[in-house]
Order: sequence, then C-alpha cells, then structure tokens
Amino acid sequence: MIGPDDELYDVLRRPALPQYRDIRPLAIARCASIEDVVEALAYARSNGLPVAPRGGGHCFAGRSSTTGLLLELSGLNAISVQDGLATIGAGARLAEVYRGLHEYALTIPAGCGPTVGIAGLTLGGGLGLLGRRYGLTCDRLVAATVVLADGTVVTCDEDRESDLFWALRGSGGGQFGVVTSLVFAAVPSPAATLFSLTWPRTRAAEVIAAWQTWAPDAPDELTASLTVTLDEVRVFGATLAPFDPGPLRGDVHLRDDLSWPDLKRSLSEGPPDDRTIFSKSEFFRSPLPADVITDLLDSGCELNFTPMGGAYNRVPVDATAFPHRTERFLLEHASPDQAAVRRSWSTAHPHASGRVYPNFPDPDLTDWQTPYHGPNYPRLVSIKDKYDPDGVFHFPQGIGADR
Ligand SMILES: Cc1cc2nc3c(=O)[nH]c(=O)nc-3n(C[C@H](O)[C@H](O)[C@H](O)COP(=O)(O)OP(=O)(O)OC[C@H]3O[C@@H](n4cnc5c(N)ncnc54)[C@H](O)[C@@H]3O)c2cc1C
Repeated sequence: MIGPDDELYDVLRRPALPQYRDIRPLAIARCASIEDVVEALAYARSNGLPVAPRGGGHCFAGRSSTTGLLLELSGLNAISVQDGLATIGAGARLAEVYRGLHEYALTIPAGCGPTVGIAGLTLGGGLGLLGRRYGLTCDRLVAATVVLADGTVVTCDEDRESDLFWALRGSGGGQFGVVTSLVFAAVPSPAATLFSLTWPRTRAAEVIAAWQTWAPDAPDELTASLTVTLDEVRVFGATLAPFDPGPLRGDVHLRDDLSWPDLKRSLSEGPPDDRTIFSKSEFFRSPLPADVITDLLDSGCELNFTPMGGAYNRVPVDATAFPHRTERFLLEHASPDQAAVRRSWSTAHPHASGRVYPNFPDPDLTDWQTPYHGPNYPRLVSIKDKYDPDGVFHFPQGIGADR
C-alpha cells in the first residue's frame, strides 16, 4: 500500500490525461496478483473507501482516478499463449501486448495508443486497425477472471457466469468487478501496408465528403481514418491487401516493410503533447451534409473520423453488451478550447445517431443510458444488481447510477 509520503506516490497516481492529475487518492494499492486485488478490495470495503481500478489510466472521464483507494494494476501484465489463445494480464499496455504476441506471430484487433491499457480498452469495446476485419477487441474475448466486490474470484466465459461475460464485452470499465486477466482468440500478426495521403486544409471539405461515402464501405481489409488539423487533412491507416485509395486522389505514401508492432508504433510517433485537450464524440449512420462540413471546419477543432462497418457491424446488437452495430463512423472533436469542442459537437449532433462510444465517455451527457448502451441497458442493470448489489464500483454515468 502506498501513501502520499511514499516517493512513488506521485508517479503512480498520475493518469495519462493532464486534467485529472490533481486528483489525489488516499492510498494506492499496487496489485501484482489476484490475492493483492482481493486484499485491497477488502481494505477499501472495511474502511468505506471508494475504489477505482486503473489499467492504462487513459479514461477521458477520469474514472480511474479517485480520492479513495486507487488499484494500480500495472504489475499484472503477464502475457502467455497456448493453442492460439492469448492470456493477458489486465495491467498490460497495448505496446506490450503487440510485442508479446508478435513473438508467437499473433496479435489481437485493438487500438493504437501504445500506453493505452488492454483492460479499459476491451471492457469498453476496442476500435483499431484490424477491427473492420476481425471486430472489436471485446469481440475476440473468450474468458476473463474477475474479482467481484465481495472478494469472490470468478472466471467467466460463454458457459460460466455468462451474464457477467456478456456485460464485460463493451459496457465500459469499472462497472462489475476488477478484471485481473483476459483471454483472447488471437489472430495472425499480419503483413500490412501503412498508407497516408495528405492535402492542405483548404481541401478538407471535399476530402471529408469523399471519405464518408467510401471508408465505411471499404473492404474489411482496409481501415482508413481521417484527421483534419489546423494545417492539413490526412487520410491514413493500414490495409491487408494492395492499397486502393477509392475516390481519393492525392500523393500516396506507402510502407510495407514494418512488422505489425512497428506499424502500430509508427502511428503514435511524434513530439510528446502534454496539453489538456478536451474532446467529445458521437457515432453517425449517414453522411454529413456539405453545409455542416463547412461549419465544422470553421469550429477550429481537430476532427477525427474513424470508420466503422465491416466486422464491427456483423455482430448482433444483443450478442455482447456493445450495442453500436449499425454505425458508419465515429467523429471526435478535439481542442484545448472546451467551448470550441462543445460548439463543434453541437454542429454535428443533429446528424448523429445519438450513440456514444463507451470508451470515449462524455461527462456532458445527462441522458447517457441509451447513448452508451442502447437497448442493452436494462440487462446491464440486472447484471449489476447480481454482481455488485451494493454499488461498490460506481461513478456518475455508471450502470445503475441513475437510481
Ligand atoms: C491517447 C489515447 C489513445 C486512444 N486510442 C484508442 C484506440 O485506438 N482505440 C480505442 O478504441 N480507444 C482508444 N482510446 C480510448 C481508450 O479505449 C479508453 O480511454 C480506455 O478506457 C482506456 O483504457 P485504460 O486501461 O488505458 O484506462 P483506465 O483509465 O485505466 O481505465 C478505463 C476505465 O476502465 C476501468 N478499468 C481499468 N482497468 C480495469 C480492470 N482491470 N478491471 C475493471 N475495470 C478496469 C477504469 O476504472 C476506468 O473506468 C484512446 C485513448 C487515449 C487517451
């Protein structure tokens, strides 16, 4: 247990996002085993402390920071492989996952940020470059070990504690217990081509218009994201087949000499940015009209478009807790200016599906149940009642927090 006087306290309590770095836990439990988690939860319960599990600490709503007991899980980062199944400790970060699995010529579909935690990412869904081919990270989950609020340790899968297993796949982290390890059906670590096309920002409107009718319907092998910054517009991603730019015309930069872990890492290279960046996002089921695109480009925000479709949308809405299976793309508005982010979001909002990715939580939402969970919310509430009846794991916008 680490208290405020310990020299590691400030290092361990800091989450990735600067806006949550002033939150000071009463103590930090460094957990390196299931027993450590059981003990830490018992301590929190007997002292009436709020608890927050932390994987990679990247939550946009600061939910892995607390003034109570922080469960710091980075010591639970073992990775092993047997018969194509990858068992990954809940404290592992994505860079560790890609490197560890590549030794077996395997990988899993997952996100890009190298320090993002596998647990938070999986529990809220998990979008990434292989997602249109293989689905969400949570779609590849086949089992998980969880310490429940009362200290019981359970392993859940399709046959054991199947309700809990269903709920863990895409409802968002920190809701039902502390996950200590995750088992995935791995996929081959692919030989892929990295591509990017860049234009001056003056071309942004036409590029967005072309992208949104193409990228969500592209072959599963292709994931093309789009980013508009203050300087330029860029379409980039990876393809498992020869690159076809569809309707996009421009200078194409290709690289096919990178291993999968190196390709992933190359997408996160750049100078460190420690500014406080605010963001909001929503899913869309139809293209944005031209006048809305013009207004968005006037907002001064960075706009990040992520394609959905493909394997993401071939899973039934009620097969897992993640209900967003008919979306075409996700649009994120980001800026150091929070008012600009809200304005940009309001411009696009009338055209959105109203659904919000649980891994991009938005504290502004008042009616958040349907946006995050769609028709799966009532079942999630009953599972919450079964596995955490006293609401030990709770936060605003958490399942059951509306009661
Ligand atoms: C720089 C950056 C890049 C990103 N890139 C992507 C991307 O490519 N694709 C994508 O889909 N998303 C991406 N995200 C969003 C990311 O999926 C979420 O922020 C995710 O919740 C992060 O997980 P974490 O473990 O790092 O965060 P944390 O803040 O540690 O955890 C997030 C939530 O899960 C809970 N939690 C963590 N560990 C456990 C556990 N073991 N058991 C139970 N609950 C737990 C926490 O309490 C918290 O509520 C990115 C975010 C950032 C900041």
